[in-house]
Amino acid sequence: MNNEALVIGCGIVGSVIARYLAEEMGKTVTIWERRNHIGGNMYDYVDEHGIRVHQYGPHIFHTKNKEIYDFVCKYGEWVPYKLVCGAVMDNICTPTAFNFKTIDLFYSEEEAAEIKRHIKDKFGERDSATVVELLDCDDPVIQGYARFLFEKDYSLYTAKQWGVSPEEIDKSVLKRVPIRFSYEEAYFADKYQVMPKEGYTKFIGNILSHPNIKVELNVEALERLEIGENRELLIDGEPACRPVFYTGPLDELFRFDKGRLPYRSLRFEWKYEDVESFQEMAVVAYPQAKDFTRITEYKKLPVQEVRGTTYAVEYPVPYCSDESDREPYYPVLTEESQKLYRLYRDQADAVDNLYCCGRLGDFKYYDMDKAIESAFALLKTLKL
Ligand SMILES: Cc1cc2nc3c(=O)[nH]c(=O)nc-3n(C[C@H](O)[C@H](O)[C@H](O)COP(=O)(O)OP(=O)(O)OC[C@H]3O[C@@H](n4cnc5c(N)ncnc54)[C@H](O)[C@@H]3O)c2cc1C
Repeated sequence: MNNEALVIGCGIVGSVIARYLAEEMGKTVTIWERRNHIGGNMYDYVDEHGIRVHQYGPHIFHTKNKEIYDFVCKYGEWVPYKLVCGAVMDNICTPTAFNFKTIDLFYSEEEAAEIKRHIKDKFGERDSATVVELLDCDDPVIQGYARFLFEKDYSLYTAKQWGVSPEEIDKSVLKRVPIRFSYEEAYFADKYQVMPKEGYTKFIGNILSHPNIKVELNVEALERLEIGENRELLIDGEPACRPVFYTGPLDELFRFDKGRLPYRSLRFEWKYEDVESFQEMAVVAYPQAKDFTRITEYKKLPVQEVRGTTYAVEYPVPYCSDESDREPYYPVLTEESQKLYRLYRDQADAVDNLYCCGRLGDFKYYDMDKAIESAFALLKTLKL
């Protein structure tokens, strides 16, 4: 085997893998990326109004894992940033995760005091629970509060987000946003919550900045990479003879021979207004709006002292890999889709020299820290 490696996809996972191969293993690494930029879904840039925006949706770095935090700090300066999100229900904006302020905003003083007392009695010292737990709770006061949130927010938001009814969706999705038993407003509870001072694109550029790494943009890998009849990896029709790290979708790699893996996609409507502020918080959900889920106002992510404001309205839409303007953002995790993924994964694992990874290769929703962790886990098993 020669001393080269090929990485498909220049998101965080492809970049972390490339850096390790170049630095720790002395390999010469080429990255093929089909988009015209590095960074994958973390890509950000400064728009024509001087505001840094995230092309594929708002990204906030948060982790409990010190090893991951130390790793990201090696490749850029980070500033502390605690995200506070909101949700507008019946024209009232409450912080999310929902907390005691939510109760104060939507109930009379006596009712609010009663709900909080019941929560304290039932959940003691716990600081949060999922809406599913509250809905299943045998206390009618708590259940009433949970039903209110479920009807005004969770069910509407979830239905729009996934294009299905809440009963059809994996319950872990409903569990993602907890209900807090305090006035704590920070959206995430992780110890490290930061944003890159010069943006994610610069951060990933720093990871890639190594003499052994070459990035080739606008290269559709599947025009050159295929799996032959005897499960051998071919590049331009010849045996690959080098490890290939593939961070794209598995069904595409196998030319959909077992069917399509289901994803949800997003469409962003970008707007600029010459006003100081458009909404109370950087990220606000609008569960009762007809077809969009949330709006991100970028000058608040973190605070940027600029005139006017750029914001993106987020519409969940179906994904089809034939439509070039659609990206596979969120895997739709059902029993059926997991089975299909497993079939592809078994096929991929049987191919020599092929390593599938990343949120698409693993068919999982990864936050950025988990994406890096998954790259580290793969790298630890390598014997090249
Ligand atoms: C809307 C949204 C908001 C998010 N917000 C957060 C957040 O606040 N905090 C957080 O921690 N995480 C967040 N995430 C998750 C974060 O985006 C992922 O953890 C991270 O991007 C995963 O990196 P990756 O390298 O696995 O995948 P990607 O970033 O998708 O990179 C894969 C790359 O591979 C390329 N590629 C695929 N197939 C091919 C091919 N055939 N040929 C060439 N190139 C190919 C793609 O173009 C892409 O650039 C969010 C995700 C979304 C969708």
